[in-house]
This record gives sequence, structure tokens and C-alpha cells, in this order.
Amino acid sequence: MTADPIDILRTTFGFSGFRGVQQQVVDRVLAGQHTLAVMPTGAGKSLTYQLPAVAMPGTCIVISPLIALMHDQLRAAEAVGIRAATLTSVDDNRAGTIARFRNGELDLLYVAPERASSGYFRDMLGQARLALFAIDEAHCVSEWGHDFRPDYRLLRPLLDSFPNVPRLALTATADAHTRADILEQLGIAPDGLIVAGFDRPNIRYAISPRDNVTRQLQALLDEQPGPGIVYAPTRNAVERLAEKLGDGGRPVRAYHAGLPPQVRAQNQADFVASEDMVMVATVAFGMGIDKPDVRFVAHAGIPKSIEGYYQETGRAGRDGDPAVAHLFWGADDFARARQRIHEVEPARQSGERARLTALGALVETAGCRRAILLRHFGEHPPERCGNCDNCLTPPKAVDASVTAQKYLSA
Ligand code: ADP
Ligand code: MG
Repeated sequence: MTADPIDILRTTFGFSGFRGVQQQVVDRVLAGQHTLAVMPTGAGKSLTYQLPAVAMPGTCIVISPLIALMHDQLRAAEAVGIRAATLTSVDDNRAGTIARFRNGELDLLYVAPERASSGYFRDMLGQARLALFAIDEAHCVSEWGHDFRPDYRLLRPLLDSFPNVPRLALTATADAHTRADILEQLGIAPDGLIVAGFDRPNIRYAISPRDNVTRQLQALLDEQPGPGIVYAPTRNAVERLAEKLGDGGRPVRAYHAGLPPQVRAQNQADFVASEDMVMVATVAFGMGIDKPDVRFVAHAGIPKSIEGYYQETGRAGRDGDPAVAHLFWGADDFARARQRIHEVEPARQSGERARLTALGALVETAGCRRAILLRHFGEHPPERCGNCDNCLTPPKAVDASVTAQKYLSA
């Protein structure tokens, strides 16, 4: 007998109810149906496989791209009493883990995608009962996605050798094209797609051409006394901006991959504890940081894609209180991005170009920013949101000297 999901939600996880589409996803998995769930970061994707893993007989195999992520997930799962393990090259008790799996003593087994191609691993999976396959960060399977990992392509034959085991693919970032590709690559029927609401109504979006970015950022800081993040494109830009903004009287820290780990950790801890600090950072900053009261996220240059923009700005206002996302862009950002596209492998160039064009449309629009963002994620938002720069102050006319489009098409 399978226990009631609501009971497991309360007793094992300690939550009072499902959020958003969680229940829909869990119901499909429990019914044995293949599913692709597209849910924004923080929406609670892990629960949608962890709960079925507890509810169903057998082990849930979780494919995850990064060992560090796996170990975080493992700790979180064990903390609520779920029987879980990782099977990676850095784990020393692999034989013990395999024995636990064979004896049916694991709810969750986290593995890296490269293991999928091993015949030994496939045989091992055949030796005990499987509850489901959870494929985390599923956009990695698509060359259209922003983070293609060839190892994810090895998954399909493994999944196909267990045709009766339900598949649950999970991602926060997938435009329509990438989604269709994930469904196809992982053998999930199109009606298995579930998309959660991406709207963050308390975030006010604004996008402006850059002139004097230090002055522009300083003006933003003056309006927003609460904690905030300023994303800059390079380590040098981070250092420079942190120094200049530090003259304004607010506590300012820097964060990028070139700083010693203990400095990074200290700056991050200071930021999380602070009520007025400004963190100037590269995109290396933010993943897994739980700070609900970030009041603004600024970009001193264009992000990599709309997905990146959504993810980075999404770190503002997690507490639901008003927050601001302000992007400052220059034509040179687009020129440089176009240049970089020539350097990636040919197979990926059209995807990269499409991503840059989509970003250009967001930057250029005289219409609602939120509507463009949400349409990008497959939603059908109203024409105007009333909480972005263009809705609040409709632009008079587009200034042809600052259009991004010509730098996109040249
Ligand atoms: P994602 O992978 O979608 O970014 P996580 O699975 O890491 O999100 O979950 C984000 C946070 O939400 C976690 O702290 C998790 O414990 C919490 N969470 C998940 N589901 C619920 C729920 N139904 N009620 C309350 N909190 C939840
Ligand atoms: Mg996750």
C-alpha cells in the first residue's frame, strides 16, 4: 500500500501543503507517467521526486550534473530521514552503497550522468526494484539549452532499458525550443509537460542604456537602502565597481571566482547577515544562497540569456516584498556577445544566436518587460503588468542611436 502523499508531505518533510504545481507533478509520477516539470528556481523541484521516492517501493535514481549539488541534496534528504546515498568517483564507500541499493535500503540514489553509459551500472540497476528516474537540470540534455552536457545524451539508452520505470525530468530554464528537445531526447510524450508559473509580481523590472554606470548604480543604491546585488561581466569590472561604489558610504563586498575561497565565503556570509550591504559579483555568486530580503539586483552589462536574466533577477524579493531589477546595457555588450558566438562550436551557434536575439528583444522593447519574459517561458501574460519601467513610464519614442538590433544583425 502506498501511503497518502499529503501524509508523507507533513510527516517526512514537515510542510503543510504542496506549492504551485508540485502536487500535479507528484500525482503523475505516482501514476507511473513520464513527466517534464519546468519550475523556477526555488519552486521546490526536489520534493517532486523525493516524495514519490519515499511513497513508492524501490529506489529513485537521481541524475544530477554536479557532485557538489548531489552532496547538498544528500545532506538535505538525510536531514529529514530519507534513506539516500551518492554514487560518485569521490565517494569512498561505493561497495557499501551498492549493497544498500541491492538490499532495497535506499529511497534515493544520486549519480552523475556519465555513469549511465556503464554496462556495470545498468546491470546493477536491474538487480533491485526501481521507483523512478529523476533527471535534474534536464536542459543539459539539449544542445539548445544554455548548458549542454554531452553526458546527458547517454541517458536515453539506460532509460529505455527500464521502460516501465517512470521518468521525471526537471529544469528551471527552458524556452519552448529547449523543452521540445528535452521531451524528445528523454522519450517523454508532449502531454507530459507541466510548467509552473514564472511570474514574480513583486519585482519591478527596468532596463536602461548605460552611460555613466557608476553614477547610474549609485542613484539606484540611493533609492534602495536594503541589501542588493550588482552583477558585473568580468572579475576586473567587479573589482573596479566594488571600489567605486564603496566610496558612496554603503558597505560593499566583491565576489568572483578569482578571490581566495575563504574571502569568498566570508563576503557571502557578511552579505547574507547584512541589512544594507551591496554585493558586486560575477554570476559565480548567487547559486544556492538563501537570502529572502534582497531588495535589488542590478546588471552592469547584459546577462548571457533571458534564462540567466530571470535566474539572476529572481534572487531579488524572495520574501514577496517590493524589489527592483535594473539592467544597464551598452551596444558594445551585444557586439562582444556576437563575437563570442563565433568562438563556440558550430552546432551550438544557432542556439546561442537565438538566445541573444531574444535578449535583444527584451532590452529593446517599448512594451511590457514582464510580458516578454513570461511569454519566453511559455506563459500568456496580460499585455501590460503595471510594474515595469515601460508600463510605469511609457517611452515616447525609440531612440535609434541606442538600438541593440543593429548590433545583432550586423
Ligand atoms: P528548486 O530545486 O526548484 O530550486 P528546491 O527543491 O531546492 O527548489 O526547494 C526550494 C526550497 O523550498 C527548499 O528550502 C524546500 O525545502 C522548500 N519547499 C519545497 N516544497 C515546499 C512546500 N511544499 N512547502 C514549503 N516549502 C517547500
Ligand atoms: Mg533543484
